[in-house]
Amino acid sequence: MNHLMAFSWPANIRQLQSVVEHGAILCDDPLLRVPPELMVDKRPGTKALSRLDTAPPRSSACPPQRSNRRSSGSESTSCATARRTVTQRVERAESCSACSIMSAKLYGRTGSAHAHAIRDFLHRSDVPFEWIEVSSDDEARALGLDGLNDPRLPMCEFPDGTRLGHPTIRQITEKLGWFRDPSRSEYDVAIYGAGPAGLSAAVYSASEGLKTVVIERWAVGGQASSSPKIENYLGFPDGLSGADLAERAREQACRFGAEILIAREGVRGEFSAGKRVGILEDGTKIVARAAICATGVTYKRLGLPNEDRFVGAGVYYGAGASEAALCGKEPVVIVGGGNSAAQAAIHFAKYARRVTMVVREDSLKSTVSAYLVDRIASAKNVEVLTNTEVVALDGDEILRSVTIRNRNANTTQTVQTRWLIVCIGGLPHTEWAAAAGVIRDEAGYLVTGADLQQNGQPPQGWPLDRAPYYLETNVPGLFAAGDVRHGSVKRCASAVGEGAMAVTFVHRYLANG
Ligand SMILES: Cc1cc2nc3c(=O)[nH]c(=O)nc-3n(C[C@H](O)[C@H](O)[C@H](O)COP(=O)(O)OP(=O)(O)OC[C@H]3O[C@@H](n4cnc5c(N)ncnc54)[C@H](O)[C@@H]3O)c2cc1C
Repeated sequence: MNHLMAFSWPANIRQLQSVVEHGAILCDDPLLRVPPELMVDKRPGTKALSRLDTAPPRSSACPPQRSNRRSSGSESTSCATARRTVTQRVERAESCSACSIMSAKLYGRTGSAHAHAIRDFLHRSDVPFEWIEVSSDDEARALGLDGLNDPRLPMCEFPDGTRLGHPTIRQITEKLGWFRDPSRSEYDVAIYGAGPAGLSAAVYSASEGLKTVVIERWAVGGQASSSPKIENYLGFPDGLSGADLAERAREQACRFGAEILIAREGVRGEFSAGKRVGILEDGTKIVARAAICATGVTYKRLGLPNEDRFVGAGVYYGAGASEAALCGKEPVVIVGGGNSAAQAAIHFAKYARRVTMVVREDSLKSTVSAYLVDRIASAKNVEVLTNTEVVALDGDEILRSVTIRNRNANTTQTVQTRWLIVCIGGLPHTEWAAAAGVIRDEAGYLVTGADLQQNGQPPQGWPLDRAPYYLETNVPGLFAAGDVRHGSVKRCASAVGEGAMAVTFVHRYLANG
C-alpha cells in the first residue's frame, strides 16, 4: 500500500515544519499522527500538540507583531500562519463531538473518482487525512474487505475506529459532526454559496447583527479553495493557499454568529412579499427576509468523448490542489491559458517530472498576470504549447494518454499521462433562477442593478417605486454577488468586495423595502 500523509495540502507540511523550525514543541501523540520527521522534541515535560504553545516562538525571525509579518522574508509569515493553523486544527479536533478530525484515513484504488471527490472535499475543508492506495486483493483483504472490487472502497476510517464504506460527503460531514439542520425557522439573510463572496457577506451580515445562514453545496471556499496559492489578495504579501483563506473566513463568519450549512444545495427559490424561501435538495426550506446568491461558477468541461469516464480518474478540474502531491514525478498536462492554469502549472511543477501547458492563444502574456508568466518562464520543467488544444482522451479504467493538436500546423501528438488538469474557466449554474423568473444574461449570469434597466426604466414587473439597488436582481430583496453576477470581475478580492457590499443593500432593503 502506498501511504501518503496528506496534511490536506503540502503547504501545511511546510507550515508544520516551520513550527518546528521556530521552536514550537510537539510531542508524540499517536492520535495526531504528525509525520515522524516533525517529531523533533519528545523531551519529558514538553507540551502535547493539543496544548500547542501559542506564545510567540523563540526565534527572533518570527516575532508576532503585524509589522514583522509584512516583511518580505517568508519565514516570519509562514511561522505565524503555522502556529495559527496547527492551533486551529487542534481546536477544531477538540470541538468535534464524534471523533478527532486529525487522523482520518482514506483507503481507495487509483483512479477512483469517488475517492478523488472525498480527497477534494477533505482538502478544501482543511481536514488533514492520510490517503492510502490499495492496489491488490491481499491489501484489500488485510483491511477486512473481500478484495479490490469490494464495493466498500473507497473506505474512510476515523480515529475512533469507525469505518464508512463508500461514504457520501454527507455521511462524512455527519461523522465529523459538521452536518446540521437550520436552527431557526426564519433568518434575516440567507446566503447561497460559501465562496469568497458568500463568506464575506456572512462576515459583514453576522457582524452587523443580522441573523445569517449560509448554504453551501460542497465545502467552504468555492473556486478559491482549489487554488494552491493566491498571491494577489490584499494583506498577504507572501500569498496564501485558497483553503487557508477559506478557513480563515469561515472561522471569522462563525465567530460573528453566522450559521453555515455545508453539503446542502439550494435547488429552487420561491419569492413572495417579504419572504425569500430557498428549497434545498433534501426538501429543507430556508426562510429569510432577504437572500444573497453567491453561487459563483462551476468548472467548464472540455466537451470531449470519454471525458465523463475519466472525471476524477485522470481528469481533474480547477487547479487540482488536492492531487498534486500524488502525481509522483509523472508527466502532467494542464489545459488553459488563464491565471488558474498558470497557478496549477507552477504548483504541479514541484511534484511532476514535466508539466505541459496546452494553451489556445498565441502566448500567455495577454491572459496571465505578469508575475505568473515570469514564474512559468523560470520553471525548468514547465513547457508551454501555444496555439494548441486537447482533442482526445484515451485510457482504460483511468486516463492513460491525451492527444494534443496544433491549431496552426494541424498536427497532433500523443502524451502518455494519467494527469490532465482542466482550468478553462467556469459557467454559472442558475437554472433555478430562470424557473423563478430571475433575469439572467445569455450565459446564465444574474443581472443586477442598472444592467436591468431598459431605456431608463426598471425591468418589467418590478413592483417598487425605486430602481433596483446596485447588486439587486429583478426580485426585490434578492441580491447577487461575486462570479455569478453579470459583469463582475472574476477575482477573489472583487467577490469579497461584492459580498460585503451586498449586505449594505440588504440593510437598505430591510429598512425601506
Ligand atoms: C484554480 C483557481 C485559482 C484562482 N486563483 C485566483 C487568484 O490567485 N486570485 C484571484 O483574485 N482570483 C483567483 N481565482 C478566481 C477566484 O477564486 C474567484 O473569482 C472567486 O472564488 C469567486 O468567488 P465567488 O464566491 O463569487 O464564487 P465561487 O468561488 O465559485 O464560490 C461559489 C460557491 O457556491 C457554491 N454553490 C454553487 N451552487 C450552489 C447551490 N445551488 N447551493 C449552495 N451552494 C452552491 C459552490 O459550491 C461554491 O462553493 C482563482 C480561481 C480558480 C478556479
